Amino acid sequence: MNILVINCGSSSLKYQLIDSDTEAVLAKGLCERIGIDGSVLTHAPAGKDKVKIETSMPNHTVAVKLVIDALTDTNHGVVQSLDEINAVGHRVVHGGEKFASSVIIDDEVLAAIKECNDLAPLHNPANLIGINSCKEIMPNVPMVAVFDTAFHQTMPEKAYLYGLPYAYYEKYKVRRYGFHGTSHDYVSARTAEILGKTREELKIIVCHLGNGGSVSAVDHGKCVDTSMGLTPLEGIIMGTRSGSIDPAICDFICQKENITPAEMNTILNKKSGVLGISNVSSDFRDIEAAAANNNKLAKAALEAFYYSVAKYIGAYTAAMNGVDAIAFTAGVGENNISGRAEIAKYLGYLGTEIDAEKNNVRGEDRVISTEASKVALLCVPTNEELAIARQTTALISVAS
Ligand code: AMP
Repeated sequence: MNILVINCGSSSLKYQLIDSDTEAVLAKGLCERIGIDGSVLTHAPAGKDKVKIETSMPNHTVAVKLVIDALTDTNHGVVQSLDEINAVGHRVVHGGEKFASSVIIDDEVLAAIKECNDLAPLHNPANLIGINSCKEIMPNVPMVAVFDTAFHQTMPEKAYLYGLPYAYYEKYKVRRYGFHGTSHDYVSARTAEILGKTREELKIIVCHLGNGGSVSAVDHGKCVDTSMGLTPLEGIIMGTRSGSIDPAICDFICQKENITPAEMNTILNKKSGVLGISNVSSDFRDIEAAAANNNKLAKAALEAFYYSVAKYIGAYTAAMNGVDAIAFTAGVGENNISGRAEIAKYLGYLGTEIDAEKNNVRGEDRVISTEASKVALLCVPTNEELAIARQTTALISVAS
């Protein structure tokens, strides 16, 4: 079966066409600047040259049509016709408390996703536009929604309740939801597989360290806690996001700088994190290069970042009363060799020992701890698109 995986943003649309039998990526690409001048589709078919198509994309429906045209094109296409696309899997950021797993999209599901718009105003409306555009172009193709929040729905109340008036939870559903769930699910399952165990036998901590980052505690296959919260702003220090801070800082800075809460929110999301501390970049490669050149603030940013990850590992070890494996994933987790080593320095009390030679790896599944290490450390590349394709295949196979 061929599954089209769609990740739709407000002005962008990423896609992959995956053969679910072989799990091969047949093509992938990106539509950028949808609804803005200068729209462009970059289409990369497997085994053929990448093509760039610069053409007007006034809306997402036009973008989806162009993606289908690219996938079925006689030169750079990978399938003969639309009939060879058996289902579409959509990434949806927020499923609220309604969705603890992926679902086949129908009118009721669409309405429920819309109800979560308030909780993810930048993401869910765009995800819905992507779904509706695909429905318009492919009315007879089954569609599945895969939620970033779903894997974390197993968290117990004590982990998801904030120390706030309970009425805010009742009235507005203010609670911890967590994000990157598809990645935490995939990576924790893969970690168990690499260790030759089932996930149900293990206590696993997944460190998803990318531009956005989150840590989760997966206890015998179930997520019991995660660092992101009501929004993806909470938790570890990130590329441009502050992570957890004293909430009183917001009012303090608003008064000192004479800015509004909305402006403060933008600073916390876009101008903070390692970018804010270092004043160099949000990209860890740039910060590492600056730190190597003795830039003090770049060093401080990296140290604060590693420390924040190590603290969550400690907290989640306590939450699970132990840990068997710690997996590093996403851009920084998969590629930053020295970063993993720096975080591992904080974990000696657990009896962990990183193996410098094994840790010398980027983007590959591998145990990076010594034989003697009491806790296994691993590098596990995430693959959210494959996870979405697998869940889509599983759901439509059951339905048909
Ligand atoms: P992601 O959001 O998962 O795409 O991750 C993006 C982050 O991964 C950026 O901050 C990159 O600097 C970082 N990254 C990617 N490759 C490397 C690398 N080879 N070494 C260090 N960081 C990397």
